[in-house]
Amino acid sequence: LFSLRGVTRSFGQIEALRGIDLDIDQGEILAIMGPSGSGKSTLLHTLAGVIPPDGGAVHYGNTALESLGETARARLRLRDFGFVFQFGQLLPDLTALDNVSLPLLLQGFKRRVALSQAASWLDRLGLADHRQALPGELSGGQAQRVAVARALVTGPKVLFADEPTGSLDSLAAENVISLLTDITRSSGTTVIIVTHDSRTASYADREVVVRDGRISGNANALRTPEGVHA
Ligand code: ATP
Ligand code: MG
Repeated sequence: LFSLRGVTRSFGQIEALRGIDLDIDQGEILAIMGPSGSGKSTLLHTLAGVIPPDGGAVHYGNTALESLGETARARLRLRDFGFVFQFGQLLPDLTALDNVSLPLLLQGFKRRVALSQAASWLDRLGLADHRQALPGELSGGQAQRVAVARALVTGPKVLFADEPTGSLDSLAAENVISLLTDITRSSGTTVIIVTHDSRTASYADREVVVRDGRISGNANALRTPEGVHA
């Protein structure tokens, strides 16, 4: 689904990505690990079309992301991608239900439809009793599950998660990552997770390690034509 060749990206003097070659299959759950500052978030943002690379090629299906302008990338993100971050980034003044229904309202769904779909996603994530809660009234793990529901409610083809369990204790982390991977496996959603936590990474099909802007080892060698070995 994704194919990266020789991808580079600098910020001023800092070479955040120094030549990334990586293929990602449709339906694959990929964990990106590596030390702080190694380029993981930059790689995620490049895959997601948030930032353009300054060298090399990033293909998403048949689309060359490096050749798209900002507007076209934004449109693609809205249509195909969902995002979860370390701190859920829920809107603090909206209930869980309103946070999850918001992406559907932005896509033009009627309020009644958006609310009912949002409610069923909250149910799936074990939050049926918390629909009317404000983010500040939820535990960290509950808030992250709301963020997962919000990212999945539009049925994205790819879910990008940057440290989705980074702010949680190990029990809450496991709960969030197991629900996330159960749901996305059953829907065939491709998932790309940046994580420091090897327990979280163990839920992925494959782990790659970024060091100093490069993928260490030959990540693509772990792939087979039928899929992936962990
Ligand atoms: P962490 O695990 O701490 O989140 P990371 O692996 O995600 O680290 P990146 O955020 O990708 O690392 O950063 C890689 C390098 O690029 C770092 O040296 C960082 O300071 C630099 N960098 C990233 N984004 C920017 C930016 N917008 N402006 C300037 N420098 C940046
Ligand atoms: Mg990061």
